[in-house]
Amino acid sequence: MISLKNVHKSYVTGSNSLHVLKGIDLEIETGEFVSIMGSSGSGKSTLLNILGILDNYDEGAYYLNGSLVKDMSEKKAAKLRNEMVGFVFQSFNLISFKNAMENVALPLYYQGVNRKKRNKIALEYLDKVGLLDWADHLPNEMSGGQKQRVAIARSLISQPKIIFADEPTGALDTTTSYEVMEMLKEINAGGITVILVTHEHDIAAMTQKIVRLKDGRIDQIIKNGDLKHFQHQYAKELETA
Ligand code: ADP
Ligand code: MG
Repeated sequence: MISLKNVHKSYVTGSNSLHVLKGIDLEIETGEFVSIMGSSGSGKSTLLNILGILDNYDEGAYYLNGSLVKDMSEKKAAKLRNEMVGFVFQSFNLISFKNAMENVALPLYYQGVNRKKRNKIALEYLDKVGLLDWADHLPNEMSGGQKQRVAIARSLISQPKIIFADEPTGALDTTTSYEVMEMLKEINAGGITVILVTHEHDIAAMTQKIVRLKDGRIDQIIKNGDLKHFQHQYAKELETA
């Protein structure tokens, strides 16, 4: 589903260039539940934004479902995003003056679905995340966990093949974080590929595969069966930190 070959990315500001991704090779199959870990500034969001076609890369190749994603026009990229992917962010990115139902319905608005129809579908998705009773509430009337559930419903309404989540539990307490992870797990069990960024090792341990970034490269890929080893190693790293 996802194949990266020697992907490089630099940010150029003025006369400075920051080489963030230094040759990423990565394969992710349909239906996987993957986390991307690494210290702050290691390029996790940069990688996720490239995977989600929100940003370009400089060198190498990114194949999504067999087709090369490179130097796409914004129009073509937007179309592919609409068909393929949903996003969830740490800060929820809800529109403050729209209620929960309208926020969830937003991707359908961009697809040209009429108001009555899109709001009806939005209510179905709010129901799926247990928030039907909150349909007419504004984001500032909801808890962080509820806002993230609204954001998850919004990410699902266009029936994506992949959900990208950038630190989806980063602004939530532990209990709420685990609820959000349960929800992502269920979504994944329904066949949707889920790729999330986190720097919390207990969150990463709930996924099936952990990709660790270090200095712009993939340092390590840990599969489900080896998570015990990962936790052991992580504990040792903490000791020596
Ligand atoms: P992470 O998500 O792992 O914390 P990022 O991918 O956000 O890291 O950023 C990697 C590096 O690139 C950081 O040093 C960051 O400051 C820098 N960076 C990120 N986005 C930009 C940008 N748009 N312009 C310039 N530098 C950026
Ligand atoms: Mg980040």
